[in-house]
Amino acid sequence: MTFEINMRCISCKKQAEIKITQAFCSECFLRHYQRRVEKMIKKFKLIHKNDKVLVAVSGGKDSFSCADVLWQLGFDISVLHIDVGVKQCTSPRTKRVVEKFCKERKIPFYFTSFEEFFEIDDINKFFKVAKRPICATCGMLKRALFNKLARENGFTKIATGHCADDIVKYFFKSMLAGDRDSILWLSKLKPLTPSTHKKIVTRIRPLFEMLEVENLAYTKFRNITVAGCVMCSYFQRKDKWTEILREIDKFIPDWKIKIARTLEKIDIQLREKRKQKEGLKECAICGEITNQEICAICNIKRKI
Ligand SMILES: [Zn+2]
Ligand SMILES: [Zn+2]
Repeated sequence: MTFEINMRCISCKKQAEIKITQAFCSECFLRHYQRRVEKMIKKFKLIHKNDKVLVAVSGGKDSFSCADVLWQLGFDISVLHIDVGVKQCTSPRTKRVVEKFCKERKIPFYFTSFEEFFEIDDINKFFKVAKRPICATCGMLKRALFNKLARENGFTKIATGHCADDIVKYFFKSMLAGDRDSILWLSKLKPLTPSTHKKIVTRIRPLFEMLEVENLAYTKFRNITVAGCVMCSYFQRKDKWTEILREIDKFIPDWKIKIARTLEKIDIQLREKRKQKEGLKECAICGEITNQEICAICNIKRKI
């Protein structure tokens, strides 16, 4: 992303303020951004008139962009922010920033923590007993929490801020993993993941074709204060993929959007669907959906 001073906005011919793929002034950039998300929602029928949407907001630029643009487009949304109990990821400041964002827009705000929601005495112990990478355990708990809270409060869709950068990163990682199951896992990375069981709420990713840098510019031009995880934020995320992908950006600025679009068209759901049909059960302890007798969360809780 460059902040251009010597170019004209391609839309209104005023002084351009930003160039990611095309040069725009801030006003035209925001309009263009919103229009692209709106097109995405229509094309994939992500939100219907009567839908109640719960947007998961971490406090970072992606989830804030998602919530703000859905709000601007006039959808019926609420925001959920979770204290994940990992020091690097949440802080009282993040909560205040998200709460303020909601108050300014009169968006209903939900807040909970893993410990409170799942009745776990010590979340750090839970992470330790889980014996997987923290991010994997955190992701599992988040998905379960979003789903249960959304269902119990009458929401019909769960929206997350996943963008083209996430999709492309997952894509490369699964390609390198070398097994078929990790490719099948990509079937979950679509703009829309429809419900497969009455207890599962449909998930949508309205920013599927947006770039991280575009989300960053969006929050900047909309004057949205961004907080959230210092491990995951754009500038501090130091994993090698960020570096590798940025090299390609220099040559083809919109290549991630193109890959996301291509992936969207590939149907890799066949085996996954069969597996789901065979295996969906309700956990004997908590009643949530699992393919075992007892779900992974209850299983870890039993071991503590
Ligand atoms: Zn303009
Ligand atoms: Zn369970």
